[in-house]
Amino acid sequence: MDGNLTLKQGGAADAPFYLAQGGECALFEAASANDLPVLLKGPTGCGKTRFVAHMAAKLGRPLYTVACHDDLSAADLIGRYLLKGGETVWVDGPLTRAVREGAICYLDEVVEARKDVTVVLHPLTDDRRILPIDRTGEELEAAPGFMLVASYNPGYQNILKTLKPSTRQRFVAMEFDFPAPDLEARIVALESGLSEERAAALVRLAGKLRALKGQDLEEGVSTRLVIYAASLIVTGMPIERAIEAAMIQPLTDDADIKRGLLDLVTVVFG
Ligand code: ADP
Repeated sequence: MDGNLTLKQGGAADAPFYLAQGGECALFEAASANDLPVLLKGPTGCGKTRFVAHMAAKLGRPLYTVACHDDLSAADLIGRYLLKGGETVWVDGPLTRAVREGAICYLDEVVEARKDVTVVLHPLTDDRRILPIDRTGEELEAAPGFMLVASYNPGYQNILKTLKPSTRQRFVAMEFDFPAPDLEARIVALESGLSEERAAALVRLAGKLRALKGQDLEEGVSTRLVIYAASLIVTGMPIERAIEAAMIQPLTDDADIKRGLLDLVTVVFG
């Protein structure tokens, strides 16, 4: 539903650019061929969402992406009765639509969602592949092609927000990390239009910032942020200003840490 940031994409023609890191495309295809649900683990902004969009297009399946948040309930995914022009009508949620259409449903950051969401996922992620809809009394069998994909970031150390073994053991799991430096430089260059040489320098800096994760920083700088910095530079912003805005400020609010990070910039670019 729109309030839950659902995005529907479809059609094989517009496969978004994705540079593979290893055997992830083959593994996803094999999981899909065997009707297995897939769990993508990895830090934010490392390419998980882009990967799913790419694979959905490659497999010619519509894709429903739901950005999960702590208020997202099972009803948001399944659907609800709404009042329309004085009449009460049932409106399918994104998960129900995907189940009916044989689409891919991608639950981004699934651990953020409310507990009742995992209950819904269980009968869909075993060989029954059914979605019980209590409110309408329907028991939907997933159409051929339906695939459940979920992602989460194991880096967030929140004991309350982790997937229970009974849930995670229903998925084939794939680990994602930031791409190797040469691949990441190519990605940054292709996505932003910056030269590969200059993109490589930004990626070198990103590597140094990522090494500080766990000490000064909760999370390392994402590929997404490196692309932002590169894009700002392409539109004419001075390098140091672009780096500060896209690769330093989003990481921390602590003035001392920020100063330390800016010193690192001088080391790499000075
Ligand atoms: P996540 O879902 O892991 O938070 P995204 O998939 O949104 O991250 O990735 C952030 C951005 O990084 C993408 O929009 C894309 O521009 C870029 N990106 C990351 N990895 C890749 C890759 N392997 N191929 C192409 N683009 C990538």
